[in-house]
Amino acid sequence: MNIHEYQAKELLAKYGVAVPKGIAAMSVAEAVAACDQLPGPLYVVKSQIHAGGRGKAGGVKLCKTLDEVRDYSKSLLGSNLITHQTGPKGQNVRKIYIENAANFAKEFYLSFVLNRNTSQVCIIASREGGTDIEEVAEKHPELIHSVAIDPSAGLLDQQADDIAAKIGVPAGSIADARKQLQGLYQAYMDTDASLAEINPLILTGDGKVIALDA
Ligand code: GDP
Ligand code: MN
Repeated sequence: MNIHEYQAKELLAKYGVAVPKGIAAMSVAEAVAACDQLPGPLYVVKSQIHAGGRGKAGGVKLCKTLDEVRDYSKSLLGSNLITHQTGPKGQNVRKIYIENAANFAKEFYLSFVLNRNTSQVCIIASREGGTDIEEVAEKHPELIHSVAIDPSAGLLDQQADDIAAKIGVPAGSIADARKQLQGLYQAYMDTDASLAEINPLILTGDGKVIALDA
């Protein structure tokens, strides 16, 4: 079963993972009304489809005014979005997600996945977030770190801190990153997930670690 980004974020929030404040909408009126419930002044309108690569395909937009939110929501809702992950047929956009825009200093890649060769859950992390991880894997495999988790011990503090340091989380934000990593691991285990991917996990200007996508 695949879930949308807004559903994944709702779930992650229950595990203490920091996510931007956001509201799902199925109409332009709902999208505009959603902005009233958010602090603003910048919003991000995100198409909700079961595929990534939305940013590059025009399915994610930073909006500076309510008019922009209205216009962009109108063009997205009901449209067919083709990304490099949807296949040539694309996917119909029935829902959009309106988020309060975040201001970030760094973008990381983070995922939890089952390594079927070793029967262990692995963390995959990189300082090169925000872009296609497949491309990083091909061109800069040394920038991708992988750590296996002992199922009886869970994700240890030291393991989480080490991986955060490796991808370039500054010392003052390591404890915050650990909380996000351990929350994501718990969510992964409890939901019996096959893949939990956060790209990007961001470091905000004031040192907070937040899941910007899920
Ligand atoms: P994907 O392309 O389907 O993986 O969608 P993402 O949720 O990862 O969004 C694509 C890109 O939009 C991100 O890598 C960011 O660069 C940008 N983006 C998303 N949310 C925000 C935001 O709150 N603020 C800013 N400045 N950029 C954002
Ligand atoms: Mn993404």
